[in-house]
Order: sequence, then structure tokens, then C-alpha cells
Amino acid sequence: MFCKVAGIFVYSDQADIAREIIGFARLNGRQSVVLTLGEKDAQALQNAGADKIIAIKGESEMIENYAQAIAVMLKDESAELFAVGATPRGRDLAARVAGYLDCAMVSDIAAAGFEGDQIVCTRMMYGGAVQQTEKLSGLSVITIPPGKFATAQGEASILSLELPADNRVSLMETAPIVKEGVDLSKAEKVVCVGMALDKAEDLQIARDLADVMGAELGCTRSIAEERHWLPVESYIGISGAVIKPKLYLSMGVSGQIQHVYGIRDAGLIVAIDTNEKAPIFKAADYGIVGDLYQVVPMLTEALKK
Ligand SMILES: Cc1cc2nc3c(=O)[nH]c(=O)nc-3n(C[C@H](O)[C@H](O)[C@H](O)COP(=O)(O)OP(=O)(O)OC[C@H]3O[C@@H](n4cnc5c(N)ncnc54)[C@H](O)[C@@H]3O)c2cc1C
Repeated sequence: MFCKVAGIFVYSDQADIAREIIGFARLNGRQSVVLTLGEKDAQALQNAGADKIIAIKGESEMIENYAQAIAVMLKDESAELFAVGATPRGRDLAARVAGYLDCAMVSDIAAAGFEGDQIVCTRMMYGGAVQQTEKLSGLSVITIPPGKFATAQGEASILSLELPADNRVSLMETAPIVKEGVDLSKAEKVVCVGMALDKAEDLQIARDLADVMGAELGCTRSIAEERHWLPVESYIGISGAVIKPKLYLSMGVSGQIQHVYGIRDAGLIVAIDTNEKAPIFKAADYGIVGDLYQVVPMLTEALKK
């Protein structure tokens, strides 16, 4: 047995999310057993507060190929929950493991906790229009996006374990994607532009404000995907970046639910829009009803002083 009591088994190919899931286990008084592919990833998480780290050894370089073996391990260990980082690879693994276990699974939770033996998860449905709460019984699988839980600290022992791999899928090549934009998920302040801008050159108005605030520049999906004025990494929302800055300031962003999904965890939301009925004002802590072409340069000048 890896755990003295039923615990949370954790996997994420992104160490930051694994750290947060360990924090989630601690928060809920559960032991955590972290699975990694190989020793290097295990060492990177050794100080993250887990109870045990199992470095998987085997014939495959793809974690998905160990799904069946992981499912068997979870059953043998009487695990309570398999919590997986919601990355493309993590979602793939989670679905396969849940399939082998034939158990309950919830993807991309917005919040999670325990009520006795049951896991209670909240997640968004229908493009963020509805929030749904679900209770899971028995060994279950969930995927957890970044930025949901505080990390923990503490040393864990590492156990190396040989597992059988299903080699029907083999890795041919891994090539890095060259990202043009910033990583908004780590930004402390974000200035966000929407479709109110008349032309690409007007982005300078937002850049000037962002510079004086020390903020990163983000946008709505339409700016990135339709007008191609900013790289796709810059757009915020349910299908873009989910951000958690201390300050988010929007200009000419109507605040459709798919966009607001990405800023729900912002500390302070400030919105500038000509339409006083724009939904962004419902999400905002402070709002300015006005023309961004007038308001923003004034704000920039005021902040310079
Ligand atoms: C499945 C799905 C997923 C989606 N995912 C995302 C997502 O992840 N992120 C995202 O952003 N969108 C997403 N969308 C698109 C989303 O529904 C909206 O269409 C989009 O967010 C609107 O962008 P916007 O606010 O820039 O534009 P608009 O909705 O056109 O809003 C422009 C705003 O500017 C204001 N305005 C106009 N002129 C001025 C001025 N001079 N000064 C100040 N204000 C002015 C207007 O009053 C208006 O409120 C998704 C849609 C679907 C269907």
C-alpha cells in the first residue's frame, strides 16, 4: 500500500498544476500520492508537500499508455480520487483511466471539495452559461485546471515503480509550438481590449495604458480569432486563457459569458464601455460608462502623474 488511508492520487504533466492538486489534497485532509513519468519529474515535485511520489518506469514515454496499469493501481490501493491536471495530455489520461475503471468522472472542475466520502464538484456547462454541482461516489476521476488551489510544501519520498505499458500508440515526434504572446495566466495586471477598437493601430492606446500600469495586454476572442490583431495566446475566456490577475481592466469588451468565464477569479475588475447595460458591468467592481477613445488616454495621463 502506498497510502495508509484512502487518498488522492495525482497526475499532471505540468508541475505547477500537480503542486496545486497536492494543495487541494492537503486542504481536504487527504493524503496525496503523486504519479510522475520518470525520476526527473518526481524530483521536481519532491518538495511540493505530497505524501508519496511514484516515478513510473516502463517501455513507453506517453503517460496515456499506462492508463490501464494506473487504473489497476488505483483499485488495488483503494484510492478515493484520481485528480489529474486539466491539460490536453491529462484529459486524455483521465478519460482513459475512468474508462478502465468504469467510474464517475468530472472534467475541468471550477471548484471541488468533500462531503464525507463524496466528492462535490462544480463546473461550467453550456459555454459557461450555467454552473452545475455534482456529487461523485466511490473511486472517481476529475480534471483540475490551473489556478484553483494554493500550493503546499513538504518533502516526499520517491518510489520507482515499473508498470506495463500499452504500446498501441507510440510517440513519433515532439516539436515545440512557438508562442507569440505572453502567458496571461501568470500576469498580475491585465488590460483587455475588445471589438470597440476601430483599427489595429488603436491598440497603441491600450498598450500605453498597459505600460504605465505595468500590465500585460489581453483581448477578447474576436480580436484574436477574427481580426488577428493579437496572437491567440492573448485572448481570455472559456476557450482561451483563464486568468487570475490582481487587476483586470477592460475597454470596449461587452462581457459575454464566454469571456467572463476567464476573468472570474480576477481580484479587481474594472470596465470601460459606452453601453451602460453591457454585461461586463455586472462582473465589474468598478465601471466607467464612456468612450474608451476619451477615457483611456485621460487615465493613462493621470497614472503617469
Ligand atoms: C463556444 C464559444 C466560445 C467562446 N469563447 C470565447 C472566449 O474564450 N473568449 C472571448 O472573449 N469570447 C469568446 N466567445 C465569443 C463571445 O461570445 C463574444 O462574441 C466576444 O467575447 C465578444 O467580444 P467583444 O466584447 O470584444 O465584442 P462585442 O461583444 O462586440 O463588444 C464590444 C463592446 O464595446 C463597446 N463599445 C463600442 N464602442 C466603444 C467605445 N468607443 N468605447 C467603449 N466601449 C465601446 C460596446 O458597447 C460593446 O459592449 C465565444 C463564443 C462561443 C460561441
